[in-house]
Amino acid sequence: MSRRRKPRTPATSSTPPNDGTPLGGLSDADLLREVARRRLAKGTFDIDAIEELATAAQRDLGEETLAAAIAALPPEDDKPKACPKCRQPVPVKAKNRLRHILTTAGELRLARNYHYCTNCGRGFAPRDAELNLPEEGEVSTAMERRILDFGVNDTFESVAERWSIHFPTSIISSNLVRRVVDRVGLRCESAYSEEALQMACREKPEEPPAMLTVATDGSMLHTREANWKEVKVGVVARGGFIPPGEERPRRRVEDARYVAVLGGQLEFKKGMAAALAVERADEVGTVVWLGDGARENWTLASELCPLAIQVLDVPHAVHWGMLCGKAFLGEGHCLLPQWEARIHELLDADSPEAAIQELMNCLEFAATAEQLAALDDVVGYYRANEKRMQYRTFRSLGLPVGSGIVESAHRHVLQVRMKRAGQRWGMVRARRMVRLRAAYRTAGAVRFHRAIRDGLKAPAATHKHQLRPNAPRRVLRNYTKSRVSPLNRAAAAAASK
Ligand SMILES: [Zn+2]
Repeated sequence: MSRRRKPRTPATSSTPPNDGTPLGGLSDADLLREVARRRLAKGTFDIDAIEELATAAQRDLGEETLAAAIAALPPEDDKPKACPKCRQPVPVKAKNRLRHILTTAGELRLARNYHYCTNCGRGFAPRDAELNLPEEGEVSTAMERRILDFGVNDTFESVAERWSIHFPTSIISSNLVRRVVDRVGLRCESAYSEEALQMACREKPEEPPAMLTVATDGSMLHTREANWKEVKVGVVARGGFIPPGEERPRRRVEDARYVAVLGGQLEFKKGMAAALAVERADEVGTVVWLGDGARENWTLASELCPLAIQVLDVPHAVHWGMLCGKAFLGEGHCLLPQWEARIHELLDADSPEAAIQELMNCLEFAATAEQLAALDDVVGYYRANEKRMQYRTFRSLGLPVGSGIVESAHRHVLQVRMKRAGQRWGMVRARRMVRLRAAYRTAGAVRFHRAIRDGLKAPAATHKHQLRPNAPRRVLRNYTKSRVSPLNRAAAAAASK
């Protein structure tokens, strides 16, 4: 639904100044009408021409306004100014050094004094700081925000092309988009802490949520240097609890925090720890941790959320059963759908025992080493994850058992931007983009640019979770055991031994 527009008050005055000048009897509005009339008199009258005329006027007026505002600034004095780094007074090195800045209102040409501190080996322009201009780069903050929004959602080349449709009067190159995204990506990497970034992207809840669903998984990315590299993706989402017997609503993952890392497990762990801390996981009664069977997954879960209910997601459990089925029947066999249905049926229990029994019955039909190995694999996999496969109980408690949440994270965080046909990423840029995409999805489009900036600063301390000076940054967890489901205690206890 479109919002109804409020009638706007005209920007130009309709009262003539009558100041005795030759055109003093005409108001601003009269003049504007006259200019429009003259311009239109030169050309055609169709809407395209009129629109173009208005847009050109907007741009011209914008640039003139910029220039006028800059010209109206008090002139700079030529005294030495304090170096922003060492605070020593530094004399002017060059006057009227020109800087071009692309703003949303057109191009800004700024002539200002330039100082160079020989101590620090860096130059600075005090006027830039006065105007709150970004230290580096050729675009204003508002422009950066705009370009960034395109750049995290589309390829650099495509952004430059699409830009010319949206903003026909300002042309940008794919290289400019790349530089802007790189710069913001670097800023995102320089966040004060992972928690600071998470908090800037999405507020810490006032009350700990009743339930958290956590899911982690890996996804392969095509890189130039190392061919395929794994990106680890994690989601921490509020809720997920569906009371038994109720209609299954589509699980919402918009309220989720994302962590994505092209790098090692340690880095991923830090990111996940921050997301969980900001979501107040320590105070949440029920935490469900979904994952595939990868051991590092469960190590992470046990370390970060020892009392979480660990759930092997059903699609992965079925996938392993199907690998075995394919080894026995052959790829594309007509009975595979029945095999799959049977696995689903057998897994709808409180342990994989029935499934293991029936799979073991296939042993006598195993003719090849591959078939034996496949059987061995799936049985081993089910045994290792036995406690995480109490699907009947999980379902009756309304806990999520599918992997929809992480699949959707893959799609929303990575696929749409980073896994397009033929895309190959350099490692540095890929790392940054992965991180940016996770922050983008966590913060949402409107908040994203601001969030990256805010993440540079220490988060404002809330009285509940104050960071104590001279103390470990993460206060030791204080689990309230009584509120936590006993389901996976045994697993947690075994893991911590
Ligand atoms: Zn200095």
